[in-house]
Parts: sequence; C-alpha cells; structure tokens
Amino acid sequence: MPKPYDWLQQSLETIHRADWYRAVKTIHGLSGATVILDGQEVINFASNDYLGLAGDERLIEAAVAATKEFGTGSTGSRLLSGHRELHRELEQAIANLKQAEDALVFSSGYLANLGAIAALVGKRDLILSDLYNHSSLKNGAILSGATVIEYPHCDVTQLHTFLGEHRKNYRRCLILTDTVFSMDGDLCPLPQLLDLADEFSCMLLVDEAHATGVMGETGAGCVEYFGCSGRELIQIGTLSKALGSLGGYVAGSAKLIDFLRNRAPSWIYTTGLSPADTAAALAAVNIVQQEPQRRTQLWNQINYLKQLLQQQSLKLNLLPSESPILCLQLVSATAALQAGEQLKASGIFAPAIRPPTVPTSRIRISLMATHQATHIEKLVAVLQSLSIWEC
Ligand code: PMP
Repeated sequence: MPKPYDWLQQSLETIHRADWYRAVKTIHGLSGATVILDGQEVINFASNDYLGLAGDERLIEAAVAATKEFGTGSTGSRLLSGHRELHRELEQAIANLKQAEDALVFSSGYLANLGAIAALVGKRDLILSDLYNHSSLKNGAILSGATVIEYPHCDVTQLHTFLGEHRKNYRRCLILTDTVFSMDGDLCPLPQLLDLADEFSCMLLVDEAHATGVMGETGAGCVEYFGCSGRELIQIGTLSKALGSLGGYVAGSAKLIDFLRNRAPSWIYTTGLSPADTAAALAAVNIVQQEPQRRTQLWNQINYLKQLLQQQSLKLNLLPSESPILCLQLVSATAALQAGEQLKASGIFAPAIRPPTVPTSRIRISLMATHQATHIEKLVAVLQSLSIWEC
C-alpha cells in the first residue's frame, strides 16, 4: 500500500516541472504606487487598489475608530451576535452607489459569489457561464448543483445558440459573467447579455469586482458604464479592490437581498465582517462618490500607458483591454516567469499569471490613480529593454 500522503510530493514536483509553482511575495510597509518587495523599492503594477485607497489616511482612521468603538471582531454570524449598525450603513451606501434597492455585505467577494449562486439555482436549473469567469463564479456554479455550460469568452452568438438548445429543459436559468475580466482587462457585452436574459427568461449575475469605483461616471461599475442602471440583474462585487478594504457584497432588488439573508449559506453561517473592514469600506464608498477626480486620474494613466505602448517599436502582444488591467501575452509559463523576474530586477513589480488561472501565460499590469507619469515611463522603458519578447 502507498503511504497516504506521498502523492503530495509527487504533485508538487509536477507543478514545479510545468513552471506552475506559486509562492507568496512579501511586501513591507504601506501599499501604494511604490512598495518595498524583498527589500527593494519597486513600482507597483501588481495591485488591485485602483484608486490608491488602501493606504488612505481616511480609511485607516475609520478602521481604527471602529475598532476602538466595537472591538476587533464581529463575534458571531450576522443573524446571531455579529450585526452592527455599521454593516447596515455600508449596505445602504453600496445600494445607493449601485442604484439598487438593497445590498448585502459578505465576508469576501469569493463568499458572495459562492453564496448567491448556490442560493439562486439548484439541481433542476441551468447555469451559462463565460469561459474566462473568475474562480469564485466557477466554484459557485459547481456548488449549486445546477447543470453548467461554459460559453466561449464574450461570445453572445454561441450563448444564444446554447440558450435556444437547452433553456427549455430547465426550471430556472442563471447567466454568470465578470464585467471587467480580471486576468484579461476586457469587458463583457453587458447590453446584449441583458437582452438575451430577457428573451430566454434568465437571471443575470454580474461580477463587478474590478469595475466598482473604476467604471462609470460615478464609479458604480460597468452596469452604469453601459447605461444599464435600473435594469433587473444581480450585481456582485468586492470591497477589496478599488474600495481598499476587505469583504464582498451582492446588490439588487429588496426581495433578492431578503431571500439571500435567508438562503445564502456563506452569509448565514460565517462571522460578520469585522468593524474595521466595514468602516474602511464605508469611508471608501463615500470617497468614490465625492472624489471623481481619482477616477479621472486613473483613466489618464491608462490612456498614457496605452499611448506609450503604441509608440514603442517592440511587438508586444497586448491583449484587448478597456480597464486598468493590461496584459502582455507570452509564449509559455517559463517565458512569463522570466519576464516577471527581469521586470522585478529593473524595479517593476508586474507579476506573471500562468495556467491554471488563465489559458495562456502573461504579465499582468494594473494601474492606479496614484501612479505618476514617471512610473509609467519607466515601465515602458524597462519593457523595451527586455529581451524576452523576442522569443
Ligand atoms: N471576483 C473577481 C472577478 C475577482 O477578481 C476576485 C478577487 N480576485 C473575487 C471575485 C473575489 O473577491 P475577494 O478577494 O473579495 O474574495
């Protein structure tokens, strides 16, 4: 008989051989447009803190004040001892930002997706899911027990065909999509998806994790950006990216939120979000609404980087992007790792993203409102100096 844990070593060796092995990187000090990584100052193009709020004094002060007033933990699940007025204030602020009737705050975006999807559909139902969706949508779909069909990335024609073939065989149908795709930077075709949802009587759940605070005039996300505010759909998001805190949420109709409070296991059976995270997120939602100039700055940086990349002479394989996420595709995981290492050696922190997270390896660059023009110029100069793009 083999020893029961021996397979772990073999699996790790397989991961290493494929150059898929991952390990944490330690950042020291406050996270911002530059960070200290392994003792070296680098320009940070690896963060989801798009508006630069994670190190903002106002969020820090709100977190400290809430900790002093309410303590470090929520002490229980929201339905038992874990609910504070602060949670409700945050939910109302999110509902207001999202132009939705109500919202429900979860302990992470991942848990929001797992809980909402598992509550909305079951064995008799159908899920249609974009092939490039985030892991939390994919695993929520599996957890729900529904039949899952993945449609090719952003392909509404194929989605229409699948709906025509399969919708009639199921009780409920749920379409799942990221709005900004986290490892590509492109956008889902939201208006067409809403039309298909109407035509085939489907629910539509959109993950606005990378869109909230970034897309749309008031930072409400892609739903606002595409002019779809007010149409019935389910919006999920995280408090941990442009909002600089931790936690997740679902926003939608009052009935939906009431139902989730009674049926979403990853909300009912987990401890309420900590007072510090809740207060920091609430401060961030207010800043998103009161300081549109942060979004303007972010979009200036995005446009500047795109302009410089277009001017350079190298043949960089830039994936289509309409967001602060720009990805440079490479031929292999090994090449992506080498590019990441070479960038780091030159003072640029932009990580290699490899399978199984994505189908093809790449360097992922994410921009922040707090980057300076000089940071972007240095990034482009370093990219140009690397030999890796030629292989
Ligand atoms: N959805 C998407 C699209 C994400 O990128 C992420 C985080 N990587 C999540 C959900 C999960 O959010 P959280 O980090 O709050 O769990």
